[in-house]
Amino acid sequence: MPSRELVVTRFAPSPTGHLHIGGARSALFCWAFARRARHDGADGRFMIRIEDTDQARSSEESARGILDDLAWLGIRWDDGPVLRRHQALGTGHQGVNQGQGGDIGGDSRGVGPYFQAQRVGIYNSYIEALVKAGHAYPAFETTEELESRRKAANAAKQTYRYQRPDDVQIGAFNESRWKRAQAGEAHVIRLAVPREEIIVRDTILGDVKSAAGELDDFVIRKADGFPTYHFAVVIDDELMGTTHVLRAQEHLANTPKHVALQKALVRLDNGKPFRTPVYGHMPIICNMDGSKMSKRDKAKIARKAAKDAIAKDGGITAAVLAGTTGIAQKQIADFLAAESDSVDTAEALASHFKVALPEIEIWDFRRSGYLPEVIINFIALLGWNPGMKQADGKDLEKFDLEFIGKNFSVERIGKGSAKFDRAKLLSFNGDAIAGMADDVFVQRWRAWLAEYEPEALARLDGLGADTLMILAPAVKPRAKTLRDTLKPIAFALASDTGYEFDKTAVEKNLLASDRTGAKLLAEFKPVLAGIDAWTPGSIHAAIEAFAKSKGFVGEKGVNVGPIAQPLRIAITGVAVSPPLGETLGVLGKASTMARIERCLTSL
Ligand code: GLU
Repeated sequence: MPSRELVVTRFAPSPTGHLHIGGARSALFCWAFARRARHDGADGRFMIRIEDTDQARSSEESARGILDDLAWLGIRWDDGPVLRRHQALGTGHQGVNQGQGGDIGGDSRGVGPYFQAQRVGIYNSYIEALVKAGHAYPAFETTEELESRRKAANAAKQTYRYQRPDDVQIGAFNESRWKRAQAGEAHVIRLAVPREEIIVRDTILGDVKSAAGELDDFVIRKADGFPTYHFAVVIDDELMGTTHVLRAQEHLANTPKHVALQKALVRLDNGKPFRTPVYGHMPIICNMDGSKMSKRDKAKIARKAAKDAIAKDGGITAAVLAGTTGIAQKQIADFLAAESDSVDTAEALASHFKVALPEIEIWDFRRSGYLPEVIINFIALLGWNPGMKQADGKDLEKFDLEFIGKNFSVERIGKGSAKFDRAKLLSFNGDAIAGMADDVFVQRWRAWLAEYEPEALARLDGLGADTLMILAPAVKPRAKTLRDTLKPIAFALASDTGYEFDKTAVEKNLLASDRTGAKLLAEFKPVLAGIDAWTPGSIHAAIEAFAKSKGFVGEKGVNVGPIAQPLRIAITGVAVSPPLGETLGVLGKASTMARIERCLTSL
């Protein structure tokens, strides 16, 4: 039987922070490409590789977070680090490590490890082979030397390019340089790049040319002994069998370097030349105003808030802010001076000054109560569309992961930038929540509360077993995100004495017209106290009967308003809440009575 064509895509995050929305899109498109190849009969594989060669900025915690976010989105990888899921997704703590089975990931093709920091030996053997073949060489210039050359070039209005030393010739092993390096002299390794045009054949953008001489002899191994991103990515894409590289357009400028490396490299295991994978660079993701969507958007808002506060109050200094936020003073000073855009600092300052930051990373959207299937649907539309119509003739815009895996094609990825329309995302999310059956909603609401608002969940559960289910029909249609559910249930989260009465509402509904509302409430109180079966239905019936007995009947039937509003304000403090049957039902009789009493006394 002829073996099926192998199609391998990869997502290769650097573990230096949370998974960005753009990274999630890259992962989704790579996953979908491999999945579509399977539907077409090929052996499609999706792989994850952790690019952690920048030792100072990488962390295992970040790698774990990225994998966890991908798993939350429902993206599964065939090969890559193993994400162990001790508990159901989205709640438990998840561990990540290499190999040996596990819940997601593995090494089915035997091309791991998938953490680049564990592959340094492999990179070094290729570095040595390149040096010996005369395609790379140790370079000994100090940072200061290079900096002064750069300055001189800038002053002469020339583009700075590293000049190959006279003693280096392409194709000839420079033994004396290699010996100096081996003896421990500080150095980097540079690729000896031939003077020739390089063409990147991009499936999305077409041919992208880089003129002869445009690339200088770039660094492939840093002074710390770790390979540069360019080198590691090229070695790994070859050794891991990557056939298709789909990545963000930000990387397009790097690709000529990768092609130059592929031309210079030969496999050590079988002597075959390196292959160039099929490249596709995906559109940039922009905010609605056309600026690039980036983590910096958070820094900008937090910095402005801090600076506005400092302008108003000279007493607020970096030192003071360091004391209150727990972030180092220097970090805060750098951040305020726009020398750093640290997300951690931005988050700490935003929470201190109580400003909301835009969601940028998947983690933000999770915390805000977006649904993973909605995020998947939405990011699929960032630069791609299925090109299909709905029955009503409109473009098909709502679909799930399985649909994407079946219908994905690179041909339908656009060249222009993709706009991130937050209003549209919110409306997709609201539609998805509203469309859930109540029991499904409760299950997911509960999981979200358990992860992000555990105290609120404990309080709700403390009120009774069915609290979430009772509130669901009232909360669900109005919540665009799961976090939105907190506002209408604030009355239930507060203790019987832990909420305030809205002054305007009290004035209008309880005190106006010689305290009509308050008097009605006092009269209704014993009626409520007399209800035996405390259910939303019986409570509602009691309210209606009371209104009827008072003659609150208009053209449209019984008008419960004159008693309902005073009652609502008494037990929630505000004029808007879920229906009263549910509201009182959830609180229970004792709380309801205590709250009415407190309200009447406060008048
Ligand atoms: N580690 C790179 C990044 O996070 C991946 C680039 C690539 O896909 O080649 O941007």
